[in-house]
Amino acid sequence: MSTKLLKGGTVILHGENDALSFTKADILVERNTISRIEWSITVPPGCEIIDCRDKIISTGFVDTHHHMWESALKGLCEDLTCVSYFAQMFTASFTFTPDDVYWGNLAGCLEAIDAGTTTVLDFAHMNWTKDHGKQALAGTITSGIRSVFAFAPTVTLKQAYPKPEITDLLPDWFMPTLEQLVQSKHIKTDDARVSMGFAFDYYFMPQDVVIDIFSKVRSLGIDIVTSHWARFPGQVDNNLPRLLKSYGLLDERIVLSHVGGATVEDVQLLNEAKAFASASPSVEMTMGLGPPVCFRHDLPNMDSVCSLGVDCHHSTSGSMVNEMRVGLLSARGAHAVQSLADGVVPDKVCRTAHDAYIMGTIQGARALCMEDQIGSIKVGKKADLVIFGTDSPAMTGAAHYDPVKAIVMHSSIADVDMVIVDGVIRKRNGKLLPAPGVIWSDSNEEFIETGTTISWKEISAAVLETQQRFVSKLPEFDMEQLKAFVRGLYNIP
Ligand SMILES: [Zn+2]
Repeated sequence: MSTKLLKGGTVILHGENDALSFTKADILVERNTISRIEWSITVPPGCEIIDCRDKIISTGFVDTHHHMWESALKGLCEDLTCVSYFAQMFTASFTFTPDDVYWGNLAGCLEAIDAGTTTVLDFAHMNWTKDHGKQALAGTITSGIRSVFAFAPTVTLKQAYPKPEITDLLPDWFMPTLEQLVQSKHIKTDDARVSMGFAFDYYFMPQDVVIDIFSKVRSLGIDIVTSHWARFPGQVDNNLPRLLKSYGLLDERIVLSHVGGATVEDVQLLNEAKAFASASPSVEMTMGLGPPVCFRHDLPNMDSVCSLGVDCHHSTSGSMVNEMRVGLLSARGAHAVQSLADGVVPDKVCRTAHDAYIMGTIQGARALCMEDQIGSIKVGKKADLVIFGTDSPAMTGAAHYDPVKAIVMHSSIADVDMVIVDGVIRKRNGKLLPAPGVIWSDSNEEFIETGTTISWKEISAAVLETQQRFVSKLPEFDMEQLKAFVRGLYNIP
């Protein structure tokens, strides 16, 4: 991690109450940290100079809900609602090997980096055996992304026929494997780029069992715990915030994804506990989990505890800018429809492009309890930076007038010129760089460096091979039967 001087860019800064401003400045990166932001910095000896004239320098985007392993499902899920998606996902346990989720996680993380995401909360629900999580995490480490790898006990089908049956919900190996990963060298070192989280959806278990699981997880030093939650119409008793509070588990380390159907009371509970929601607007609107709770004029104070996530890059773009834009437009649409129903054409939008950028950056950092490290460009914070070009047809004009509006409403992944994570360049001149390989070694009981780098071409070939194998087995399953099973399991009306 050499010293880098980003020279002459337009830097987006978060100020008081998150107000955004833009300034021409040089940024000095030493190791993995932003050490100076000044009008003009003299080039230190041995420093790499990165010419940022005519570029926008943004903090990296923070994605607080994403299933990185699912890369090989792309093309198969774009038109599926949650019931069909879950049914299809359940069949993956019969096909996906630990190697497959290594490549899947690596591909998913690189797709995110390519789009400017530098930190992700990965809801890792592919733990069908004790080996899958280790290799998926190895893929994440290889990618270079900053990740909270939320290890999830995973519903696994023992058989699909004659009727679906599942294996132990919390197998014997689960907690020892989690403990082993917490102790691994890429996780436990000070300044580690990847940390362990916990992902949990088994709230149908008895109270004492849930509390015991949380207490074991906390005893391992794990902070962030994330869960899916949405209330479907008529489900007045379906109230995860209230349940967590009654168990003494609702605090600032909880991230609830979706929160569709949230009420004013739910929002109040989240605010009191400083727990966060993660809205995934594209997936929520496709899968019937919405409407998204971000930017909502009818949910006061929701935005103060709301962040954004892609959720499923097999269904939508892996870009956080896409989620900012879709979330913003969804909320504006709902606001306008309500205003028109009231007989009034609104004279202003309910939320702005700046609000969307804040939710995709510093709000994500707050959700992960990492506000002191990431989420904005500030001296002393980690060097997680995205450099946008300004001269494409889409960016010209907007980038020069208001860089935030340019990013949120006009940019595409093609405008992401460079991505730096933890002081390391992962994308340069618009192209992902080869990733230095890390795998899990059973004989070493540890992650090891392979000593080779992996190109996107190699990753892409591996993902396609997984997909072809998965697709060839799909006709063996009765999807209608699996969909009925999913509805019963997750209480989906
Ligand atoms: Zn999800």
